[in-house]
Amino acid sequence: MRQVIIIGSGPAGYTAAIYAARASLSPVLIASSVEAGGELMKTTEVENYPGFAEGIQGPELMIAMQAQAERFGTEIILDDVVKLELEGDIKRVTLGNGDVHEALTVIFATGSAYRKLGLEDEERLSGHGISWCATCDGFFFRQKTIAVVGGGDSAMEEATFLTRFADKVYLIHRKDTLRASKAMQERAFSNPKIEFLWNKEVKHVYGDELVTGIGMVDTQDGTETTLDVSGLFVAIGADPRTHLVHGQLDLNPDGTIAVEGRSSRTNIVGVFAAGDVIDPTYRQAVTAAGSGTVAALDAEHYLAALPKEALPKEVVAQADTQPAAV
Ligand code: NDP
Repeated sequence: MRQVIIIGSGPAGYTAAIYAARASLSPVLIASSVEAGGELMKTTEVENYPGFAEGIQGPELMIAMQAQAERFGTEIILDDVVKLELEGDIKRVTLGNGDVHEALTVIFATGSAYRKLGLEDEERLSGHGISWCATCDGFFFRQKTIAVVGGGDSAMEEATFLTRFADKVYLIHRKDTLRASKAMQERAFSNPKIEFLWNKEVKHVYGDELVTGIGMVDTQDGTETTLDVSGLFVAIGADPRTHLVHGQLDLNPDGTIAVEGRSSRTNIVGVFAAGDVIDPTYRQAVTAAGSGTVAALDAEHYLAALPKEALPKEVVAQADTQPAAV
């Protein structure tokens, strides 16, 4: 029996782990069976995380967060959560390998998942020219002509990064104004390899084995055009990853987990949520980290308020043998 189980290994999960571990709560963090570190493992330079004047690579930042969480005693498990039973005093977390972990509190910090365009051949050509990760796949498009879809910071970042490899990058956006921050827009506008195609929606992807082109519709006059490209990078945002808690935790209309005010408290006592999974607006590494802090402090206060006699014996023994955090 644990005091805290943290699900998710992005900035929210790791920061919650650092705080919970320093509060002697001996957290276990379930990272993922594929790769710990969340979405920042797929980015390049992070220039806006405070403390790194020259910027830091996303993977480097996440590896440092993991090391910091482990330094204070967080146990990290590389597996997927397949089932959550959150009602009642004791929460049960079932992993892909069949192990069941029990805890008095759960911090849910699963982040968000990339949106898809919803096109007929998107799945089939995924990994064969369609990608959601420029840092993972950019290398395969040396001297090619490719397209990026989206109008936010991700699309600007991906397009800019992809010009390291590709000869030409079309940036396709469904409107005539961008959602991206001014700084990211400027960088993309000033890159001679990037050409913006405004008011266009991608409706088809062509190719048998590999992507050979796309079909677009103009959102203003409905005209249809095709474009020969060998790659399509989809950067149209992300949705909160909540499938594990459907029917258990209350959700907001936008799909994020509902929490009480500025806290991380969900509708189930002892269950806290943090990071992108509760945040439809800011979604920055640093806001996710702050949110992870809130969740760890909320969990700590919740545990401290539980009557000692209500705690399982091993939890009391564990707490008694551990020095208080400084
Ligand atoms: P956003 O939600 O900010 O932007 C998504 C973009 O995709 C919008 O322009 C949207 O169009 C477009 N879009 C959505 N659905 C579709 C669709 N079905 N077809 C075509 N276009 C679509 O997502 P991002 O991933 O860009 O950014 C998420 C958050 O992460 C933001 O807060 C951003 O600031 C942050 N971020 C920060 C970075 C940095 O600072 N280095 C880097 C990357 C992200 P429309 O505008 O019409 O709604």
